[in-house]
Amino acid sequence: MRPGAGSPDPPKRRSWAEPFRIKVVEPVHVPTADQRRHAIEKAGYNTFLLRSEDVYIDLLTDSGTSAMSDSQWAGMMLGDEAYAGSRNFFHLEDAVHKYYGYRFVVPTHQGRGAENLLSKILIQPGDVVPGNMYFTTTRLHQELAGGRFVDVIVDEAHDPASTHPFKGNVDLDKLEATIRHYGAQRIPYVCIAGTVNMAGGQPISLANLQAVRAVTQAHGIRLILDATRLAENAFFIQHREERYQHYSIAAIVREMCALSDGCTMSAKKDSLANIGGFLAVNDENVFEEARNLVVVYEGLHTYGGMAGRDMEAVARGIGESMQDEHIRARVGQVLYLGQKLIDWGVPVVQPVGGHGVFLDARAFLPHVPQQQYPAQTLAAALYLDSGVRTMERGAVSAGRNRDTGAEYLPKLELVRITIPRRVYTQAHMDVVAESVYFVHEKREEIRGLRMTYEPRYLRFFQARFEPL
Ligand SMILES: *Cc1c(COP(=O)(O)O)cnc(C)c1O
Repeated sequence: MRPGAGSPDPPKRRSWAEPFRIKVVEPVHVPTADQRRHAIEKAGYNTFLLRSEDVYIDLLTDSGTSAMSDSQWAGMMLGDEAYAGSRNFFHLEDAVHKYYGYRFVVPTHQGRGAENLLSKILIQPGDVVPGNMYFTTTRLHQELAGGRFVDVIVDEAHDPASTHPFKGNVDLDKLEATIRHYGAQRIPYVCIAGTVNMAGGQPISLANLQAVRAVTQAHGIRLILDATRLAENAFFIQHREERYQHYSIAAIVREMCALSDGCTMSAKKDSLANIGGFLAVNDENVFEEARNLVVVYEGLHTYGGMAGRDMEAVARGIGESMQDEHIRARVGQVLYLGQKLIDWGVPVVQPVGGHGVFLDARAFLPHVPQQQYPAQTLAAALYLDSGVRTMERGAVSAGRNRDTGAEYLPKLELVRITIPRRVYTQAHMDVVAESVYFVHEKREEIRGLRMTYEPRYLRFFQARFEPL
């Protein structure tokens, strides 16, 4: 069915709705076509450089952009801003113990703060860290500590058309081969992400995580989770892994954590907070080191760069993030948008992931070569069409090989339409889907981009472009 066509048919099934009602609203407005053209030129065709005021529906990221609950806001007023030993730290510690189950917690200002500490503690120059696809900040911290990331994800993850239900799985043969090749003593840990961001929000199965644990344990190698979207990963386990269909989200998250030695966490995602993160581990020696280092990079070990009120918001958000009805509505909204685009013949990564819909920019713009950044081009085109802000996950994000200086040209050249939690309605999703549809209809008119400014680190944030 085309956009705009109403359905005269009676319902075939009952609808679900969000498990909340709206108490506070923030007005948004649609910039005019002239304003959009002016704004994207000024931003160097990089959606990261747009002003938020010039955006209508902001789907740049789900990071720190979620709506907090009344309970979280009330918690903000109970911030204990003592320099040391804030009561909110102990609430945070309790929430991590209860839901993730690790013994020790070190708060950090956000996820990359935890990645920095962990990488500095565990990685020696020359080490390698296998993982289920890279993440930008995770890999950079591994490299800055002298390590090298090795991708051991299943091949299906690199194929946007594959409908494998667990494209976040580790290929055990690749993992074994990596261990054989480098030796277990060169591998400080294996890093496993729950729903793999760069693969399109794709989950790992519990069966696969158990198998990874068996392999790493046999070689005495630690297993560390990137727990940023573990609750969303648990939703897919509940729905796709028969054994766990009667488990709660919280129970599945606990099972996953029990298979690991620790995690890094960005509380800006699953945990429904606007800022925050933590490192959690079971090994007391690693904890001692982290507690020493956190003072250098983040702050005292009972605040780690967060205000007391922020720790309270994270502590309460963790509990909310584990509720089944919350996760069902959150992932359900993403699946709703994804299904619409699939029905209209738009090339998206399938199956649709947990935190966003990822457009396959190479299939969308087959006439734009990857050296002209089709995903960057498409994100700019979507903004020009409707004021909807999305982001590039392709060659620009992948950056350059630090040894050779050559640009990585990843198989996945994607535009991420990321959905903040509890922020937008189904009507917003309809507007987004229709914008993508109409840009797809006129895709042949779209030209690629040339990079005119390239930052040295994580270039996608600040690079500038001009149309060819
Ligand atoms: C966002 C993110 C991080 C980094 O967290 P920040 O809070 O942005 O520093 C790490 N891993 C994954 C998978 C993420 O999505």
